[in-house]
Amino acid sequence: MNKSDSERIAGILSHFGYELCDNENDADFCIVNTCSIRQLSEDKAYSKLGVWGKMKKHKPLKIGICGCVAQQEGQNLLKRFPYLDLVFGTHNIYELPDLINKEGRICAVTDKPIAEKEFNITRTRGLNAWLPIIEGCNNFCSYCIVPYTRGRERSREPQNIINEAKNIIKQGYKEITLLGQNVDSYGKDLANKPTLAYLLREIEKLEGNFRIRFVTSYPTDITDELIETVKNSKKICECFHIPMQSGSTPILKAMNRRYTREQYAQIVKKIRDNIEDVTITSDFIAGFPGETEEDFNQTLSAFDEFEFDYSNTAAYSPRPKTPAAKWADKYVSEEEKKKRLLILNDKVKEMTLKSNQKYVGKTLEVLIESFKDGKFEGRTRNNKVVHISDKDINVGDFVDVKIERASTWCLFGSKK
Ligand code: SF4
Repeated sequence: MNKSDSERIAGILSHFGYELCDNENDADFCIVNTCSIRQLSEDKAYSKLGVWGKMKKHKPLKIGICGCVAQQEGQNLLKRFPYLDLVFGTHNIYELPDLINKEGRICAVTDKPIAEKEFNITRTRGLNAWLPIIEGCNNFCSYCIVPYTRGRERSREPQNIINEAKNIIKQGYKEITLLGQNVDSYGKDLANKPTLAYLLREIEKLEGNFRIRFVTSYPTDITDELIETVKNSKKICECFHIPMQSGSTPILKAMNRRYTREQYAQIVKKIRDNIEDVTITSDFIAGFPGETEEDFNQTLSAFDEFEFDYSNTAAYSPRPKTPAAKWADKYVSEEEKKKRLLILNDKVKEMTLKSNQKYVGKTLEVLIESFKDGKFEGRTRNNKVVHISDKDINVGDFVDVKIERASTWCLFGSKK
């Protein structure tokens, strides 16, 4: 979502004569678009501001910060970083045209989203275009800051999304990824309650040779209608990103996730039973407050039971305003969290390799995305990276590739 916001911010600034540059040393205006999901990402943003502060001593430079840290800290940032010129929150992106020409140091952080306006979007992701469909979250997981920084769920009108999709296809993009913190909640706040499945079917009807993806799914919001839609589609890719966060039901309860391990299992089974060659990926937190050795082992066993194709992992990091941050008496030691995270990462590698090996000998459709180091690289429908040895193909082609070999992070093959 942040990357998509950055493309929108760059697009808005392009109307005022700015263009993206490759090197920050050449920039007149540097903006860091921040994430505050973990302390580490927040700290990285602050250190970036420090670097730019030093640069500003030697040349005229405007410095801005936006995104979740800006939303969370607001005015404090202007006090803490005297060289900072502009702070704008997650709800203030469309106010940017008014903000950039104002005199003095500005902080614009509101709780009420500023309505979407028509601007260019400076897309930066090759053949893939992000398309936000819903923003915010109503779930209030006990560790998560997103509902405080992104606000409650707000769906975009289906027609606006479809119009944007039409433009994306017209501009030659080959993949559209529908985005939301909670993409399956799409439409619940709109009149007529359009669903994600409906939206996917409408986008699929658009003419052109392109793929559709969607991310991120909340487990219990995945409907039979959605599974059926993906199953029957030619354009929607067969992959679901469904964060489980822990394999232990008591920890899921403490996290305020609204499902048990057994309910999660039923969803995974339904998807795998219905959709051939589907990939299911996840997110897990190691060392949530109160997580015992036994709870952690339940997480490891979840990998074996659900055969995840890949997972993101993170050590628990207390976030301001969240309930779990107040449970210091239950904190897992830093050392233990680090240890569990390493074990988890090894498990992810083991499962990812196992998942990749399933495809050796199969033929998969690959969208060729780039040519690097003498080899073409592309992605399968189920989001596996493939290196292809053939030369007579082009970036942007959809090619049937026979998979010959698998490593942990990619597949190798040649044109069939
Ligand atoms: S569903 Fe996701 S975004 Fe929403 S509160 Fe939970 S972890 Fe955060």
